[in-house]
Amino acid sequence: MTKTAKAKLQQIQSVKGMHDTLPADQPLWEKIRKTAKTVADFYNFKRIDVPLLERAELYERGIGADTDIVEKQMFLFSTRGKERLALRPEFTAGIARAFIEHGLSQLGSPLKLFSEGPLFRYEQPQAGRYRQFHQLNFEIISNDDDPIYDAQVMIAFWRIVESLKIKNASIAVNSIGCKNCRPAYRKQLTAYYKDHKDQLCEDCRRRLETNPLRLLDCKEEKCRELKKEAPIMIDHLCSHCHDHFKLVLEYLEEIKAPYALDPYLVRGLDYYTKTVFELTAEGVDFSLGGGGRYDYLMELLGGKNAPAVGFAAGVERIIETIKAQNVNLGLKEKAKIFLIYIGDLAKKRCLTIIEDMRRNGIDVAESLGKESLKTQLNLADKAGSPLALIFGQKEAFEDSIIIRDMTTGAQETVPLKKLAESIKRRLV
Ligand code: AMP
Repeated sequence: MTKTAKAKLQQIQSVKGMHDTLPADQPLWEKIRKTAKTVADFYNFKRIDVPLLERAELYERGIGADTDIVEKQMFLFSTRGKERLALRPEFTAGIARAFIEHGLSQLGSPLKLFSEGPLFRYEQPQAGRYRQFHQLNFEIISNDDDPIYDAQVMIAFWRIVESLKIKNASIAVNSIGCKNCRPAYRKQLTAYYKDHKDQLCEDCRRRLETNPLRLLDCKEEKCRELKKEAPIMIDHLCSHCHDHFKLVLEYLEEIKAPYALDPYLVRGLDYYTKTVFELTAEGVDFSLGGGGRYDYLMELLGGKNAPAVGFAAGVERIIETIKAQNVNLGLKEKAKIFLIYIGDLAKKRCLTIIEDMRRNGIDVAESLGKESLKTQLNLADKAGSPLALIFGQKEAFEDSIIIRDMTTGAQETVPLKKLAESIKRRLV
């Protein structure tokens, strides 16, 4: 390629709403993943990974055709084989499909499952809202709808947030009833909003016919005003849903979980029944995650009845909360010892020394591409290394190496054979 042709090439930018996680942010991501895994292990959630691509129909049927996710936010495409596929916008539908497809009910009830990874939604990017984002996802699938499971998923979520030292978390909880009691409430809600139709935003006027519960979730100021007088579901719960919800709250009381009843809380996915919840924290105006019970999803996807409950926490939102609250997680990496060489022969043999250290479980940093001793010593200093190992021509011939204490500057020559042992003694 000629120089001028090269100059014309435009830089390729990342896709809107998609983000790189740069090395500096990796320790925090790692900490969050580790925390989620520790909580999952403790409460006996087994890891499951489902594909990033599924048939679009899975989400259309599972999440609901009238939801924002399915209506507007799925990354949809047709393959060369004319299959209609979607990038996963959430975990639950894929996990439910896998549960049915692999007969996971055989593993016993309840089955507790944990997943984490990227999801995709074609949204308008803004703070806390991206087109590729990540979730920590916990599900309990059972053969009954025991409210203890609802409390247990909320507790797992709360423990993750607490372990990450996020301050003043609060769980908003509601019950949106079941197929027996919700239709009557839906009718009342529709009647209420029909009386005020001219005050609704355009989206809500349309949703009123298809999905009236979603009106409670509208962020438009005029719709929020109207919500204040709207009928609430908990006044219309059937006796089973009423008792179920009462027990959920009692279990949360028992463990002193920081919950608050929010009678207007609904969630953006159609599969939810009974309990729904969202977790918020001080200093941010979005929810860190949410979830609820989904007792009919398995049947909707062609499986046997298997009531379930779960939550998904947004990793990016957890990170933004940690940053907004200035949480100190003590993530500074421990400085490694620094291996310095002088001359080509020593440089070559450093490769063997590094492997020797690896076998002995000693972490070493180096900069074998740099020749100057001064540069290498500066790098060791900058890295905060407690010890530097200096390996020159003389040492290479004598099978020895210099250990330099970077704080005091004191140096000692030791035989290479005894290097690991000498380092370990100094580092205790
Ligand atoms: P949902 O799957 O819609 O119930 O969302 C659960 C959680 O996932 C939310 O509370 C957020 O923390 C996170 N989340 C959902 N959508 C996005 C998005 N577009 N960008 C970043 N985080 C998201």
